[in-house]
Amino acid sequence: PLSQLKDPSLLKTDALIGGQWVAGGSRFDVLDPATGHKLADVANLTAADAEATIAAANAAWPAWRSKTAKERSIILRKWFDLLMANQDDLARIMTAEQGKPFPEAKGEIAYGASFVEWFAEEAKRVNGETLPQFDNNRRLMVIKQPIGVCAAITPWNFPLAMITRKVAPALAAGCTVLIKPAELTPLTALAAAELAIRAGMPAGVLNMITADGDNSIAVGKVICASDVVRHISFTGSTEVGRILMAQSAPTVKKMSLELGGNAPFIVFDDADVDSAVEGAMLSKYRNAGQTCVCANRFYVQAGVYDQFVAKFAAKVKALKVGNGFDDGVAQGPLIEDAAIDKVSRHVADALAKGGELLAGGHKLQGQFFEPTVVANATADMLCAKEETFGPFAPVFKFTTEQEAIDAANNTEFGLASYFYSRDIGRIYRVGEALEYGMVGINVGILATEHVPFGGVKQSGLGREGSHHGMDDYVEIKYLCIGDI
Ligand code: ADP
Repeated sequence: PLSQLKDPSLLKTDALIGGQWVAGGSRFDVLDPATGHKLADVANLTAADAEATIAAANAAWPAWRSKTAKERSIILRKWFDLLMANQDDLARIMTAEQGKPFPEAKGEIAYGASFVEWFAEEAKRVNGETLPQFDNNRRLMVIKQPIGVCAAITPWNFPLAMITRKVAPALAAGCTVLIKPAELTPLTALAAAELAIRAGMPAGVLNMITADGDNSIAVGKVICASDVVRHISFTGSTEVGRILMAQSAPTVKKMSLELGGNAPFIVFDDADVDSAVEGAMLSKYRNAGQTCVCANRFYVQAGVYDQFVAKFAAKVKALKVGNGFDDGVAQGPLIEDAAIDKVSRHVADALAKGGELLAGGHKLQGQFFEPTVVANATADMLCAKEETFGPFAPVFKFTTEQEAIDAANNTEFGLASYFYSRDIGRIYRVGEALEYGMVGINVGILATEHVPFGGVKQSGLGREGSHHGMDDYVEIKYLCIGDI
């Protein structure tokens, strides 16, 4: 698939440190999850390389923070333009290494690029404040300054967007960054870095540390232990988020964390059932269920339960599974065998505990799993407690509004939630009662660049996107001026 790139020079396999492409002492393989074939081997950096990268980012910081906001904005805007001009090639690289269907990959390029565009604009709006003085001999003000060298550790499910959502506000604010992309999907990240250079990003401002699984752990330790790195932004599992937090305690590092979810999707008796089915398809099966905001548990009220389940299962059965480059494919492969194992385990557990299989249910050849629906789900099933992160929809029946709210909130996670209702009172009641950072009401997809994305409880810290997305990358400084 990668032989068809319009611009083959976007296929980078070396790491980027201080403006230099670096081959590293060893290499690791990147595979196509749809075929198992090797796509490339990529620089496998070490802890020592990470030290060098931090030093490069620190050396580049004074000049970058001294640029005017508009100067940084112009470079970011150029980067956005190049990302969009190369949308097809970037999407091709993404589908090859990540597996999502090509049209979906193109969508992610546009979504990922939109954060660069948005924060190019927001760069010029990092405003301070003047405050009323408590003494007429003084003047008081607040300025916002870039926090310093920032690190981004990102996952494989959105190989571009999870990088730009962190890096664009950091760069806009005047920070320099080092990025540790997921070892399963470094090629999209490296292509984006090449475009950043073409956009005029100065050497050392944006650095890319590629590393395999083991070296990523070693690199993570160096990043957490560094006094120079002032902020870590991480998207990934709650388990790794906890490790990074613990490792960062000695340096009291600021952190933005976007961790696991366990999204409820509630359909009330007064919902538009067809619309709810549409939303359920989008929320559950996008990226083969491998997004942290994918609906994980479907709660459907007794009055519309049979209707919803029948319509939903029929649509799921019609989904075409296959290589993301083939026409009409709605669901590609899962990212790795461990992902297949988890879905298989959740489905088998649900069926063993009385679930009724209405669609799919089986592993296919290679890394593919059938889109699956199981009805009669119950609270004792694994799928009620753990995030499946795959194409499996368990459907639970409920009777009262309070029952649905209690079940939805009965988790340590609090990222995205969804519900369908046409009753205005219920929309307010349930919208306020759900303990989640994001609530989709009569929609199955809610993210875009100018809204705050993030979770409560153990789903994370901070918000990405929107004007709030800049907050984590600036420090607030109070200036108190006397002798006026
Ligand atoms: P996922 O469940 O999405 O695979 P992970 O949390 O395992 O998420 O990984 C997300 C990112 O975190 C990847 O870039 C991975 O290399 C990195 N990572 C995993 N473990 C560690 C660790 N102990 N220290 C630093 N980075 C890590």
